[in-house]
Amino acid sequence: MSLRGMRMVVSAGPTFEDIDPVRFLGNRSSGKMGFAIAAAAARRGADVVLVAGPVSLATPDGLQRIDVRTAVQMHAAVLAALPADVYVGAAAVADYTPREPSPRKIKKTPGSASWQLELVRTPDILADVAARRPRPRLVVGFAAETHDLEHYALGKLRDKQVDLIVANPVGTPGSGFEAEDNTLTVFMADGRHALGTASKAQLAEALLDLIDTRLAREASANAIDATGDRTPT
Ligand code: C5P
Repeated sequence: MSLRGMRMVVSAGPTFEDIDPVRFLGNRSSGKMGFAIAAAAARRGADVVLVAGPVSLATPDGLQRIDVRTAVQMHAAVLAALPADVYVGAAAVADYTPREPSPRKIKKTPGSASWQLELVRTPDILADVAARRPRPRLVVGFAAETHDLEHYALGKLRDKQVDLIVANPVGTPGSGFEAEDNTLTVFMADGRHALGTASKAQLAEALLDLIDTRLAREASANAIDATGDRTPT
């Protein structure tokens, strides 16, 4: 199916939060899932902006890539790329960042057995995109969890006011972070859709089919609304 004429913003990969010039806090996201979604959307004719954290992946054909490093930079780049029809937040964004990165390498304190690093919350990109006006027609978030996947996915759907949450278990070998394959279940207000286990490229296509169906359904509901023909519910 074609996404021609749609503008889609996709965030992918991890963020790196600097502690000092040689150290950072990061995570195991490879960016492959988000890159696969962005590449597949571009192939379907969408106008795609891919906001990428620090990853070692080639830029897919036919899209605009913006490289960022930190959660704050990703937040700014994503918001600057709006308005869009669809936002897919596939990035593993750090929830916390060091309050003040040291300009100089931090040295061990002799005789001290521990060291404390103060962290502050990062902006929630997904929630801020969902609160933006004009809001994208579809806001899609990810939930990578090691446990209680469904509980957390449903919580994010509600708390961040997003339309779809794509949940994948991580921490099990062969799926999730750094893997070629993934296992995805999509949660939405009116149900769920198991996409099963497949390559990230195949799952990207299945997810875009779902996005396409949702956009078409929403467009036809609006068209009926506009003619006033819809039976009041
Ligand atoms: O609550 P949690 O961080 O697990 O939610 C994951 C979802 O939220 C992902 O879609 C991720 O891209 C997004 N997120 C975000 N900004 C943050 C943290 C997470 O956009 N600071």
